[in-house]
Order: sequence, then C-alpha cells, then structure tokens
Amino acid sequence: MDFTPAAGDGNGRSRLFAFSPRDILIVAALVFLASIAGGLSRPSGFLAVFWPANALLAGVLVRSGRLRAVPVLVGAAFGYLAAALVIGDSLRMGILLTSGNLVGALAFTLLFGALEPEDRALNRPQGVISLVLMACAASAAAGVIGGLASSEITATSYFEGWSAWFAAELVNYLALLPVILTLPPPSKWWPLPRPRREALLAMAMPVLVTVLVIALSMLVPHPVSIVFPVPALIWCALTLPLSATAMLVMVYSGAAMIGMKLGLFDLGLGAEVTGDSITIVHLGVALVALGPMVIASVNVERRRRIEQLERLARHDSLTDALTRSTFMEEGTSLILQLQLERAAVAVLVLDADHFKQINDLHGHPSGDRVLVAVAAAIRTAIRQGDLFGRIGGEEFALVLPRVSRREAQAVAERMRRAVANLAVVLESGSLQRITVSIGVAFDASSRSGLSEMVSLADRAMYEAKRAGRDQVVVCDSDGSERPPMQ
Ligand code: GH3
Ligand code: MG
Ligand code: MG
Repeated sequence: MDFTPAAGDGNGRSRLFAFSPRDILIVAALVFLASIAGGLSRPSGFLAVFWPANALLAGVLVRSGRLRAVPVLVGAAFGYLAAALVIGDSLRMGILLTSGNLVGALAFTLLFGALEPEDRALNRPQGVISLVLMACAASAAAGVIGGLASSEITATSYFEGWSAWFAAELVNYLALLPVILTLPPPSKWWPLPRPRREALLAMAMPVLVTVLVIALSMLVPHPVSIVFPVPALIWCALTLPLSATAMLVMVYSGAAMIGMKLGLFDLGLGAEVTGDSITIVHLGVALVALGPMVIASVNVERRRRIEQLERLARHDSLTDALTRSTFMEEGTSLILQLQLERAAVAVLVLDADHFKQINDLHGHPSGDRVLVAVAAAIRTAIRQGDLFGRIGGEEFALVLPRVSRREAQAVAERMRRAVANLAVVLESGSLQRITVSIGVAFDASSRSGLSEMVSLADRAMYEAKRAGRDQVVVCDSDGSERPPMQ
C-alpha cells in the first residue's frame, strides 16, 4: 500500500481509481483488526473508549488519495461489519455501528483531505488547528447515526448517546491522527537514519524525562497531576522530529487513560468514575496534549523557513550558483582544510566571451537565459565536493579540491567544450552560441589563500582572452603559465 500523498493535484484526485484489489484487502483487514482491538476494550454497557479503527481509516485515506474510492470504502465497511459480528453484536447493531464509524471516517477524510499537503502533514500549526476543528465536525456527524447505536448500548437518551459517541470518536482522532499523519512513509522506515551520538543523546533526554514525569504524575494523588508531563512534552516538541512528538503525545494520552482506568490518577470522582467520565477527562488530556503538537509544527515550519532563507541568501537567484561572498567564505575554509591535508587544489575562473554583445543585440532577458545555460553547462562537469560560485556578472569560479594539474585542466576543458556546444534559445526564438575563457590556478599543496588563487586564475583567464578566447590557460601558484590548450 502506497502511503505517500498521491501525485497530481495534491489531493490525489487524478489517481482516484488507481487502487488495486490488494489495497481493498489491506484496508478491510486493517479496519477489521483495529475494530477487534477496539471491541476487546469495550466494557459491556459502554462504548469502546479505545477505538482506533476510524482514526486509522481516516488517516490512511487522507494520506493516500488513490484509496479514496468506493470499492475501498466497501472493503472498509465489510471490515467493520465482520468485526462487529465476531465481537457478538447483532446484524442490525453491526450495521448501525458500521454506518456511524464510516460516516466519521469519511467526513474527516473529505474535510481534512481537501487541505494543502503541508497542513495535512501537520507541518504548519494551522494543520493542527484544522485537525481539531475537523475532527470535532466529523465526530459530531458520526454521532448522528452512531448516537442511535450508542443510546441503545448504554440504555440512555439519544442525546446522551450522541454525546458519548462524539466524545469517544474525538478522543481517538486527537490521540491517533497526529501519529498517522506525521509517520514517515514506509520507504523511509529502513534503513534507520543514523544520527550522531550527541544528536541521539539530545533526543533521548527529553524522551526519558517525559516518560519519567508521566510515571511520576501517576504517583501524585491529585487530579491535576495529569497535566504534569506537559512541559516535558513541550521540550520534546522543541527537540524531536514532528512524528516522534506525535508518538509521545499519544503515549501520554494513552497512559493517562490507562492510569485512570487503573485508578492511578485520583480524579476526585470517588465512586463516580464511569466510562463517560473517563472519556471526558481523556478528551481534556488529548486537547491539552495538542499544545505541544502545535509547538512542534510551529517549530517544523520555522526550521523550514530558515533553511529556505539560508538557501536564498547563499545562492544566486539567476544561476543557482553560490553567491560571491558564500563562495569566498566556503572556499577559504576548504583551502585551509586542504592545506592541513597537504592536498592539491585548483581554482578556475570562467568568463563568458563577448557577452555584452548578446545583451546589446538581444536584450538583457536573453543575456540572462545565456547565463543560466552557461551555469548549467559548467555544472555538468562538477564533481561532488567542488564549489561553484558566480563571482561577477558573467564570471564564474570553482574550487576543485584534491585534483592533479592534469585533472584540473581536463575539467576546465570539459567545461569549455560543454559551453561551446550550447545553442541557447533566446527570447526571440533564435539560437545563440557562446564560449567561455577559462583560467586555472593550480597549487599542489594548497599554501596560497583563496583570494590569491582567484587573482592568479583571473590573470590566466585574461591570458586566454588575449590568446583568442574559448581557451583554457593553466597557471601554477609559483606564477608559471601553461600555454592555452587547443
Ligand atoms: P569579454 O569577452 O572581454 O569578456 O567581453 P564581454 O562583453 O563579455 O565583457 P564585458 O565585461 O565588456 O561585458 C560583460 C557584460 O555582462 C556587461 C554587463 O552588462 C553584462 N552583465 C553582467 N551581469 C549580467 C546579468 O546578470 N545579466 C545579463 N543579461 N547581463 C549581465
Ligand atoms: Mg567579465
Ligand atoms: Mg566576458
């Protein structure tokens, strides 16, 4: 089963009918097993407090657009119904329960599935707020039918049946959906990413503290102790990946519920502790725990925006090469590192030939197109670890670490040829040819600084211009020049 959001319009509508019979079976089996698990936790005379099936179905449908299809839903209905019959409900009750469950999961899928992918993955705080609102709406809708079953099971009025269904459904959505919606797709489950030791330690600490505070809070005989773990969860939200925070929030919510059932949290209700009061307190816990979830998604969004800004600040917007200042900064530290290793370095300076003419004859936008094409052609000859920057209007530079003089010359030659082979389509539709002159500065032991190397390569580049352009001239760090290669 593909768990990644479907391609196309972002909601997966274009692949609506791309499901396979296997998908139907998997969804039916998931719903069946989750319903059995929920049914086993259902005390007689009450609704199940733990009912993961609806959240699971809604989460899977939200994440995988192609599963939002009638045959898949029919499969899910069979899963619900079969489980109800296995648990021992009558066919009539089974059909009522199945309808309530399906309405809830479908209503949530329709509402939440229409959001932007970033919100659906809870990567933005609005996503978490929408989750709460839409889970409320879906639970209220499910209660309209489910209330009939609920009032019958609990022998209460229809309104009481509706509110019991609403609260139970909402609790399960709030506790489980954040985990399902933020879980990385199965393709990323293995191999596990290997964080460094310090990173692992930094992540383990808040997890340990959270688990410890959850355990300790159960030892304090006061109902308010149930919120003690919230600051620890906020710590997790600020330190851990979103999916890990979602899991800990679920652990907290689940532990609170089990703690209440076992009487570990003294709710001050005395003999009044019923399934309903547990559901209400559990709902309160799930809502409180959404605070850390919002913080976690604010953090994800903040990190993403900072990365975007950093990328924009470091890269030239036209050619995507490094800006001059970033090139000089990164190049300087790279050469210092190479000097320690006593490794060789080559610095290349490339300047487009007669570029001004292109601007003058065809206009600046056409000139820009040529620059973009030249940068792309240069990039074809770059290896991983090379630095590539735009250091002037039509001037580029590269730092090639750990190369021999021959290799550096060959790379420069490849770049020269790649540019010379270009036929750039201009604004007018006409084709434009372009060449570059390249100066290469080579230092066998990286003793010269970057500025010095760039000046040397610049001198070699002007030598190439003088020799007729569209050439490569190599210059050693001791100043000796090699004739242009033809
Ligand atoms: P040479 O072969 O001697 O290098 O001649 P040239 O015409 O390439 O050199 P010159 O330095 O005279 O002209 C460079 C031109 O590059 C001038 C400037 O208008 C243009 N230029 C600089 N930055 C940009 C840019 O971002 N976009 C465009 N379209 N043109 C630019
Ligand atoms: Mg120039
Ligand atoms: Mg030029």
